[in-house]
Amino acid sequence: MTSAIKGLMQKKKFSVIEILQHAATWNGDVEVVTNSVEGGVHRIGYAKLYDRTSQLANALTGLDIKAGDCIGTMAWNTWRHLECWYGLSGIGAICHTLNPRLFPDQIEYIVNHAEDRFIFVDTSFVSVIANVLDRLPMLEGLVVMTDKEHMTDDMEKIGVPVYCYEELLGREECDFDWPLFNADTASSLCYTSGTTGNPKGVLYSHQSNLNHAMVTAHVDVMDLSARDSFLLIVPMFHANGWGLPHSIPMVGGKLVLPGPHMDGKSIYDIILAESCNKTCAVPTVMTVLLDHLDNNTLQIPSMTKIFIGGSAVPQSMIESFEEKYDAEVMHGWGMTETVVGTFNCSLPFMDELSFEERIKVRCKQGRPPFGLEMKIVDDEGNSLPHDGEAFGKLMVRGLRVVERYYKAEESALDSEGWFDTGDVSTIDKHGFMQITDRAKDIIKSGGEWISSVDIENTAVGHPEVQIAACLGVKHVKWEERPLLIVVKKEGCDPSKASILDIISSEHAKWQLPDDVVFIDEMPLTATGKIDKKPLRITYENYLMEA
Ligand code: ADP
Repeated sequence: MTSAIKGLMQKKKFSVIEILQHAATWNGDVEVVTNSVEGGVHRIGYAKLYDRTSQLANALTGLDIKAGDCIGTMAWNTWRHLECWYGLSGIGAICHTLNPRLFPDQIEYIVNHAEDRFIFVDTSFVSVIANVLDRLPMLEGLVVMTDKEHMTDDMEKIGVPVYCYEELLGREECDFDWPLFNADTASSLCYTSGTTGNPKGVLYSHQSNLNHAMVTAHVDVMDLSARDSFLLIVPMFHANGWGLPHSIPMVGGKLVLPGPHMDGKSIYDIILAESCNKTCAVPTVMTVLLDHLDNNTLQIPSMTKIFIGGSAVPQSMIESFEEKYDAEVMHGWGMTETVVGTFNCSLPFMDELSFEERIKVRCKQGRPPFGLEMKIVDDEGNSLPHDGEAFGKLMVRGLRVVERYYKAEESALDSEGWFDTGDVSTIDKHGFMQITDRAKDIIKSGGEWISSVDIENTAVGHPEVQIAACLGVKHVKWEERPLLIVVKKEGCDPSKASILDIISSEHAKWQLPDDVVFIDEMPLTATGKIDKKPLRITYENYLMEA
């Protein structure tokens, strides 16, 4: 019997800092451009940014920050935040990105659970930390990510030592002897936003980040190259920034960062000024850009591809960007536990389709790139067919998927290594996955299931509807019935009947919401998605009372 023999290729440890080193060496002049917190546009090439990251590493050592320490960041997308990503992971510490929009109790829980020793914080968020500081016993200090000029007296009186980022860096040398790590050494930490229960930490490794960066750059995922000017709107604290802070420098693309300037005009202005050809965000943020373009009759001629995910992209959004602005919307699905999971892409069969048919495919969440196994199963765990009709629990497996949550004693996987995403979906014969719903959002009316996502998507196709949420609320006869909650577009006054008409053009009668309720503002989660939790509390008995 023969046995396998070893290959004779180089064996090497790895660190994500090698991505930045590569960018510095081969694309050193390519810029990272930031609409800065302090005001004005800041520009820096990868070579200089790498030098500063080395200075940061020396400064971290000066603060006695060591391999294995968890260090928080609470920051906008800026060049300094990028330096922290690489500098912290580069010395073997864990870069723990914190979402400033979380409730104070959640921030307290997450910082304490991770045992963050320091937090690198933008001036905008110092007060967010200050509010919970007395509940963070393990926090040793704050580093405010600005220069001396923008430090204020109240920061210094906060109750823990406070350092100025630029002062720390200014004292240090530009070279650092970076260590390399075994494949599964932790590099970064991101918590789910805790839509159910406490937030859970996903601890990425250097190797999973490398694998992920390679995959997201792929032409059928985000198609990245050194020719790109990529506007990274997705926050670096949301699901590991979708991996883009690693993959764009890896390919030597220009990275454009919006900082705190997330309104439609600022996004439009920076797209124009930096000739951005790609961008990415959740649908609610893209609505802001779309409204700005529509209301001011503007164009974004440089933009070719817009990657949207995090929640379902409405058909009307895909149509608007394609028809009016000549930009292709690439719909993706993922979660903190997988980062980028699936992405929509072009297959040859789509060339034969009409515009309407192609848009229907574009609405799907897409196909898994190599390295992500995916299946749908029924309640007994039996695999369901890829026929675009059967829907079941979406399960994933692979090197880029969480194995267990941070500090959890038990694995998050089933006995065969599959992770239950909590989503319900179909997969069609071309391998396109489509999310029907989150398992907990699906509406069960009598014995039938209604997809809240489908109803929402059709409702926002109404020209006067800004945003819509569909909930299953209690019903005497049917157990649950759909109720539609709508925010009107500014200056518009759509009737309930006109909204229900649009829905009935695409859905069976029994799927129509029993009523439409207008509200002024939609509650959003910390990552900008519709937050159904408070809506459920308010409207749970709406139909019973009616
Ligand atoms: P949070 O729980 O804070 O929203 P994640 O960003 O990790 O944290 O959310 C992941 C979930 O978001 C997925 O499980 C899925 O329900 C939803 N999601 C992500 N992308 C899409 C998409 N393109 N369409 C529909 N749902 C999506």
